[in-house]
Amino acid sequence: MSKNIIIAIDGYSSSGKSTMARTLAKAVGYRYIDSGAMYRAVTLWALRHNMIEADGTVNSTRLTEALPDININFTTATDDRPQQTLLNGENVEEEIRRLAVSNHVSQVAAIPEVRHHLVRLQQDLGHEKGIVMDGRDIGTTVFPDAEMKIFVDASAEPRAQRRFLELSDKGQAVNYEEVLANVVQRDHIDMTRAESPLRKAADAVSLDNSTMTTEEQDRWLLELFKQRTQCE
Ligand code: C5P
Repeated sequence: MSKNIIIAIDGYSSSGKSTMARTLAKAVGYRYIDSGAMYRAVTLWALRHNMIEADGTVNSTRLTEALPDININFTTATDDRPQQTLLNGENVEEEIRRLAVSNHVSQVAAIPEVRHHLVRLQQDLGHEKGIVMDGRDIGTTVFPDAEMKIFVDASAEPRAQRRFLELSDKGQAVNYEEVLANVVQRDHIDMTRAESPLRKAADAVSLDNSTMTTEEQDRWLLELFKQRTQCE
């Protein structure tokens, strides 16, 4: 007999958390939620409504007032197409991955009201369990009682390299140096913000995926999942 649990996967930018979380969710038949996509969708909305100045300052008062108007949903993944992020019904999956959004998302994610709003939505999504969610504060704030918590760790360069290849493959004109600068800057803002900063939960298991192949990592995760879902 096995039980339904919550799986929280946290870690630094571009550490491969999302791929790991999506693969695990598929393997165990759970729902996958990319919490970073929610912060990215709010950032895109703020950019489109001119709430972010050229110097990166976010008009947090206006954005907070607008939060009830920002609707975020996900499509269900199929074999042909991974889950897509919907912003007020519009598919913004591709747009939210662009550097223009990445460059401002950590400033938006540092606004306490934005966090409170999205954390509530995330908790609602997980209330029936059977979910894998990845982000920065899932094991510490969103689901502090999650039965399985992973913290993904790796140095900045291989992470930037991964993101650079992803963006280049999508045809985006980026250079490695700007991607590395963005990864380092987001880590810094995420770790030093006052509201639920990025940190490893005391009961999270660390995973440095720069030392493992994808297959090893997937096997390791499934083994841990089996242990955590075994009923006493
Ligand atoms: O996971 P991803 O890199 O797409 O997340 C984008 C940004 O959203 C992060 O750099 C971080 O600033 C913010 N974020 C967060 N808390 C989460 C998920 C993402 O602050 N749970």
